[in-house]
Amino acid sequence: MESHIVTIKSIDKVTHDVLRIVLQKPGNYTFTPGQATEVAINKERWKDERRPFTFTCLPDADYLEFTIKTYPSHKGVTNELLNLKPGDELILHDVWGAISYKGEGIFIAGGAGITPFLSIFRYLNSINKIKGNKLIFANKTKADIIHEKELQSLLVDSFVNILSDESIEGYEHGYITESFLKKNLLATNEKFYVCGPPPMMEAVQKILSSLGVGDDSVVVEI
Ligand SMILES: Cc1cc2nc3c(=O)[nH]c(=O)nc-3n(C[C@H](O)[C@H](O)[C@H](O)COP(=O)(O)OP(=O)(O)OC[C@H]3O[C@@H](n4cnc5c(N)ncnc54)[C@H](O)[C@@H]3O)c2cc1C
Repeated sequence: MESHIVTIKSIDKVTHDVLRIVLQKPGNYTFTPGQATEVAINKERWKDERRPFTFTCLPDADYLEFTIKTYPSHKGVTNELLNLKPGDELILHDVWGAISYKGEGIFIAGGAGITPFLSIFRYLNSINKIKGNKLIFANKTKADIIHEKELQSLLVDSFVNILSDESIEGYEHGYITESFLKKNLLATNEKFYVCGPPPMMEAVQKILSSLGVGDDSVVVEI
């Protein structure tokens, strides 16, 4: 199995609990938008603690980028990432992942589940093919929305935010329900891309199935 030790070029916060980490890119390193790799921190205590994260840069960029939500209460890898600085190293393993672009459709993301879609949208924009896709992004509060401005400029009118814990004008309020999804459907033959925390995945997949959407139209990480 391949592994690469890579140096952190920059590490910054993009929301109160989400980091953008930019890394040196190993030679001949390739991935398709939506794919992930297992990552460990190259420190004695941490180098065997691997966690999956999705690349959020363009595949042909001369750097690698991750967008990572941190969980200090877990006292795990994402908490330790908060202590890293430029010059520290990560260990990357094999590239894998089932989420990839399979045609126009509705992308439904919860929290850090946006990362494979961020990668796909950035790529589609770079080849001028983002039109015809729509994003429904569920978060607790506005402060939790990752790269809201960028997503707004990429998707324009095809970007719907829904906040469970905050009621703000211009933002939907509550959880994703059947009537909410019905209101946001584009066409009957579209693809549905779903990525988020397990309870959201379960609820959305159940709703899609009750709306008559076949499994072959739903793209998820397996
Ligand atoms: C294919 C794939 C791609 C992913 N891509 C991304 C991405 O791009 N960006 C991103 O932000 N995330 C992504 N994730 C999710 C990410 O992998 C996890 O958030 C990450 O592994 C958490 O690591 P951690 O060590 O901080 O915490 P964990 O491994 O979740 O927890 C460490 C320890 O904390 C304890 N613990 C677990 N849950 C709790 C809890 N609720 N409260 C208290 N203690 C707890 C357990 O003892 C556990 O062993 C992805 C996941 C998958 C499967």
